[in-house]
Amino acid sequence: MSHQVAVDYVNHVYETVTKRNPNETEFHQAVKEIFDSLVPVFDQNPSYIDHAILERMVEPERIISFRVPWLDDEGKIQVNRGFRVQFNSAIGPYKGGLRFHPSVNASIIKFLGFEQIFKNSLTGQPIGGGKGGSDFDPKGKSDNEVMRFCQSFMTELSKHIGPDTDVPAGDIGVGAREVGYLFGQYKKIQGGYQAGVLTGKGLGFGGSLARTEATGYGTVYFVQEMLKDKGDSLSGKTVVVSGSGNVSIYAMEKALELGAKVIACSDSNGYVYDPTGIKLDTVKRLKEVERKRIKAYVDEHPEAEFHVGFENIWTIPCDIALPCATQNELSEASAKRLVENGVIAVAEGANMPSTLQAVDVFLENKVLFGPAKAANAGGVAVSALEMAQNSARLSWKFEDVDEKLQEIMRNIYHNSMQAAEKYGKPGNLVVGANIAGFLKVADAMIAQGLI
Ligand code: NDP
Repeated sequence: MSHQVAVDYVNHVYETVTKRNPNETEFHQAVKEIFDSLVPVFDQNPSYIDHAILERMVEPERIISFRVPWLDDEGKIQVNRGFRVQFNSAIGPYKGGLRFHPSVNASIIKFLGFEQIFKNSLTGQPIGGGKGGSDFDPKGKSDNEVMRFCQSFMTELSKHIGPDTDVPAGDIGVGAREVGYLFGQYKKIQGGYQAGVLTGKGLGFGGSLARTEATGYGTVYFVQEMLKDKGDSLSGKTVVVSGSGNVSIYAMEKALELGAKVIACSDSNGYVYDPTGIKLDTVKRLKEVERKRIKAYVDEHPEAEFHVGFENIWTIPCDIALPCATQNELSEASAKRLVENGVIAVAEGANMPSTLQAVDVFLENKVLFGPAKAANAGGVAVSALEMAQNSARLSWKFEDVDEKLQEIMRNIYHNSMQAAEKYGKPGNLVVGANIAGFLKVADAMIAQGLI
């Protein structure tokens, strides 16, 4: 089998993806990154090509798109669009978050759903890949408006999900409040208590301890593993974190706990730079309780500066950069700037925050780079632990869940490193994570016949 056959196969399937899904640029980007990584697998195991494995994997098992009508506080009718992509259930029920953000469209949901297949496989937990959401913008809406929207959204979604079929969770714009409203409506429609239908629930009704913290903590545990392999640690390092939502806040918390100094964070309006160290209590109150803009931080901390434009956060010199906001927030130019400023490690708390060109800059310059699929998998891993607790009608202690999370992140790191080594790309965690995630799903699909 020549190397060229593998390259031609991957290129041919990629071409059909771009033709069949025109204008879905984010989906194309995610597919390209994964496909390019898999060439060495097809080199060594050409039978995957005979099984048309990529052709099958890039086609979602099912996509649902639906109308979400709701009444605003003025009594006016509003209409949004809801989505759920049920991408792959070879190794478990579809699992992946719901995103409420005005930018949501089929391309974004499909890129997230496609990546989720590989990420979920990497966690070692029995979960398939899915994702969903709506172009609804929770920002500036009252609690009642958010509740009415969630109820209408779930009225339709409830027909397609269940603890053994599809288990959504939160993502951008969907936190504890939204999950609570969604769960209430599901329960009302089903007329039964099926705790395992959603994860990220409140602690009083089936939620898992450490789920709120899991993605951010997991990202920092991953950084810890990368540094440990080089005989280094987080202690005394300066850290820049983009965003100030769920993932960012708990990434900052764990980085601080491990002795690092966090000097900047952001939201979609701009970033705060606090050379004396970000006061996390203020960020938590502003974002989790008062739902304010990050700019308000400088009113309380005059030693800090606010700058308009969130991407400029990457111009701040730091040892460790954690992009934790959204896709394509870190460009090639920003990556070059980080390298010039001496960055040691970058780990993606958000999904696909670095452009393909930015990733190349990090890899070429030997920056320790933890791709999203590996570095932010702690969230969905603890969601799977939440499902396990719900099935057993038990709740585990915080320390027990946190200990399992640390073990999962260590395994993801080592499995990805081993796969990279085995397939000829030592140290390349992008390739390693994609291959390790792919193999388990591909083998399960083949074992299950033509699915
Ligand atoms: P949140 O809604 O809690 O926070 C998102 C943060 O990112 C906010 O500070 C937000 O600012 C900022 N942000 C969102 N969109 C944009 C944008 N277009 N431009 C600039 N800033 C933006 O979401 P999460 O923390 O849950 O999610 C963040 C990222 O992590 C996403 O990529 C998500 O897919 C990923 N992720 C989340 C997991 C989880 O468990 N929650 C699990 C794995 C990955 P603003 O408030 O101004 O919009």
